Amino acid sequence: MPDKSTSSKATATTATETPQAPAVPRKIYPIVKYGDPILEKPGAGVTKFDSELEELAEDMFASMYAAQGVGLAAPQIGKSMRFAVVDVTGGKNPEAKIILANPEVTHAEGEVREEEGCLSIPGFRGYVIRPQFVTVKAQNVKGEPFEIRGENMLARAFCHEIDHLNGILFLQHLGMLKRDLIKRKIKKLRKQGEW
Ligand SMILES: [Zn+2]
Repeated sequence: MPDKSTSSKATATTATETPQAPAVPRKIYPIVKYGDPILEKPGAGVTKFDSELEELAEDMFASMYAAQGVGLAAPQIGKSMRFAVVDVTGGKNPEAKIILANPEVTHAEGEVREEEGCLSIPGFRGYVIRPQFVTVKAQNVKGEPFEIRGENMLARAFCHEIDHLNGILFLQHLGMLKRDLIKRKIKKLRKQGEW
């Protein structure tokens, strides 16, 4: 997320914005980091659509905003299930909140090469080719099926999160040299107790 702290004029306008205070305090989950095997195994399908799942979705949004991410998949909070949340506005627009249960890409078109990062691999980024447009079929938190189309950053977020549900990390889309370099650096950080 870019730093928005600029001039005093900019800060003056924030007074007119209505901050969305959560109605209930949310659980902020710690984010599982690369190296944990849960990140590299496929999640189980969601079968129970109950209030617990609704709570989980809201806690995941809160955890994602706290970590300044635009997407979060359940395996990243230690839950091996096919469930993810996405909000490419970073919490600025409540209508941009997307909950994906058992999502699948049903159509993909075009290619965009853009830098990508992951909350589970903090501090590292790499260029990944993703479709420019995707159509995703999923279920909402109540289990109702829906289809959603994403373009550019939203398409990228959908693909990145669906990858997570299949145990795939963005590192796997990088060239071997770049991938090995990141893995070596992480290994070093882990030895130093900083990972
Ligand atoms: Zn990720």
